[in-house]
Amino acid sequence: MENVVIIGTGCAGWTAAIYTGRANLEPLVLSGTQVGGQLTTTTEVENFPGFPDGVMGPELMSRMQQQAEKFGAKVEYKKVNEITRNEDGTFGLETDQETVQSKTVIIATGAAPRYLGLENEMNLVGHGVTSCATCDGAFYRDVPVAVVGGGDSACEEANFLTRFASKVYLIHRRDELRASKIMADRVLANEKVEPVWDSGITEYLTDEEGEVRAVNLENLKTGEKSELEVKCVFVAIGHVPNSQFVGGLVDLDENGYVLQNPHSTGTKTPGLYAAGDVADHIYRQAITASGQGCAAAIEAERYLSDGD
Ligand code: NAP
Repeated sequence: MENVVIIGTGCAGWTAAIYTGRANLEPLVLSGTQVGGQLTTTTEVENFPGFPDGVMGPELMSRMQQQAEKFGAKVEYKKVNEITRNEDGTFGLETDQETVQSKTVIIATGAAPRYLGLENEMNLVGHGVTSCATCDGAFYRDVPVAVVGGGDSACEEANFLTRFASKVYLIHRRDELRASKIMADRVLANEKVEPVWDSGITEYLTDEEGEVRAVNLENLKTGEKSELEVKCVFVAIGHVPNSQFVGGLVDLDENGYVLQNPHSTGTKTPGLYAAGDVADHIYRQAITASGQGCAAAIEAERYLSDGD
């Protein structure tokens, strides 16, 4: 029986592992499929305190993992399919290999990229549709590409892609970016970026090899339709929380985010906590995810000492 199992290896998960590790709880971290979470698919992180010159996302995550392991966190590369509660209040975590038993659980599974929901879209992922400029940007040298979205992610992706692409169209459904001013100013000042305002993609067009060659656009104000030649579309329109597996032990809001108790990372089930982007639809920052991971660890530790 574990003291604490942490599901997920983003900022929230590793921070919870550091804190529960330092509390001698020997946490078990179940990593799921994307070790390191969303920051492994980003480039430079400029706003994580303590790094005045910035730090690369994957490096930050690797350092967090090293720090957690230094304090005794164990890592297993397993995906949790279901959480159940035993009669004595402990938990069973069903993975493909086994059912892990634990006294407390911290859900830190983050969120996954949202796509547009267009016909054939998921089949085109890897063939000219992607959500990760860091992963796929270098494949599109000297050709035009598009980014969809108007938030910080879209701006960051668009800026990054100007290193490779001949042109980056930034397609946004409004005529004003949602991104922070610094990110918005930077992207609009980049001469390789051309904003396409008030517009949405209605269809992906492919060549004989099944790769994206262009998109059909619609101007959402005028209804005007046009075709835009791009070799890849980078979709950056937000995320969907990874909460599908949690079952009835927690309540979810209408968008699937785990509902935490007021002023706590606890859920409606004692001993079960949620931290980071799986529960937070407001801040969604690396540092706030880390903060919630810390809070969840402290709450789990207190629950264990009160219950023992
Ligand atoms: P976001 O802020 O939620 O922005 C999503 C964007 O996608 C919005 O512009 C939205 O349009 C658009 N959108 C949503 N659904 C759409 C749809 N179905 N079709 C077309 N467009 C759609 O998401 P994000 O950019 O991923 O950022 C998430 C959080 O991470 C934010 O808090 C952000 O500040 C943070 N972040 C920070 C950094 C950084 O500081 N370096 C980098 C990346 C992300 P509307 O504007 O019209 O709603």
